[in-house]
Amino acid sequence: MKQDIKNFNLNELRVCLSVIGLKPYMAEQIFDWIYKKGRKSFSEMSNISRRGRLILEERFYVGNLCLLKDLKSNDDTRKFLFELSDKKSIETVFIPANKRSTVCLSSQVGCRFKCLFCASGRSFLRNLTPSEITSQVSCVLNITKQPVSHIVFMGIGEPMDNYDSVLKAIRILNSPYAFNIGARRITISTSGIIPAIKKLKNEGLQFELSVSLHSADGVLRNKLMPVNKKYPLKNLISCVKDYISYTNRQVTFEYVLMAGVNDALSSADKLSKLLSNLNCKVNLIIFNKTDDARFQPLNKKDVLAFKDRLLRNGTHTTIRLSRGQDIGAACGQLRIEHTQENYKLG
Ligand code: SF4
Repeated sequence: MKQDIKNFNLNELRVCLSVIGLKPYMAEQIFDWIYKKGRKSFSEMSNISRRGRLILEERFYVGNLCLLKDLKSNDDTRKFLFELSDKKSIETVFIPANKRSTVCLSSQVGCRFKCLFCASGRSFLRNLTPSEITSQVSCVLNITKQPVSHIVFMGIGEPMDNYDSVLKAIRILNSPYAFNIGARRITISTSGIIPAIKKLKNEGLQFELSVSLHSADGVLRNKLMPVNKKYPLKNLISCVKDYISYTNRQVTFEYVLMAGVNDALSSADKLSKLLSNLNCKVNLIIFNKTDDARFQPLNKKDVLAFKDRLLRNGTHTTIRLSRGQDIGAACGQLRIEHTQENYKLG
């Protein structure tokens, strides 16, 4: 059976090529054709011998995604729904800004972590392959014709629950022979999978780590994010502390503000206390409304009051503006709508 060549990192491809009688240096040429030039067929790789191209065609194919929907927001954010080869679908978001443009990637089809406020956590189907992860970037480049400067793993799925594929994809995104996106411009966001954070610190890559906290209260976090029952706050914070001292890198804590749930000023005080003495910042996120009426966004005045309280407590805090609200940019919404449409049609 043919293999998707985009599931190999550069070193793996070099080894594989020499095993099948081709020159290992061809791996760099193939990377260049696929990732830099965006070609999907071996027959177009004109600097590879005819014999080489025939052998490649016999053994490999170049994975790709099929565009199902392309929604454009008033603020220029674009949200794509892509179909995978087994007809499952994933979302990818493109967020252009003044001097940077960010792609928010999915790492799984659904998610098994069941955060109460998240549409993606309602079902889990499977992990994405490295090819399916990097193909999201290739498709965005191809569709938007704009450069991509930053990557965030904040789309559908818990990236640290698909560790090996995500790390392989990151190495390809970072490779000068492929996308050449600096590691410091790649952010992995996790709900707090302690064993994965411990593993990450030894990867030797300077990517950004972001931990979704959403509450500094163990009881509330248990309800909002069931992952807290397995990896409780106290252990998580101590693990992040180790990560910071080992890597000497600042960590970001994401905090989605939900009206009447985690927005009291006493919650801000608890958060500051929990994070005191850590080299970190808090990123406040304005909740993107979903079909779940229990969770509502906070008004601007209350968001600023929460931020102000954190700052007064000495906690470094920023606010992440919610983009693409008119196209339902909260993760998982588009895929769920599409699945429901299909059910209605079927
Ligand atoms: S917030 Fe993240 S970890 Fe939680 S269910 Fe959604 S995708 Fe999964």
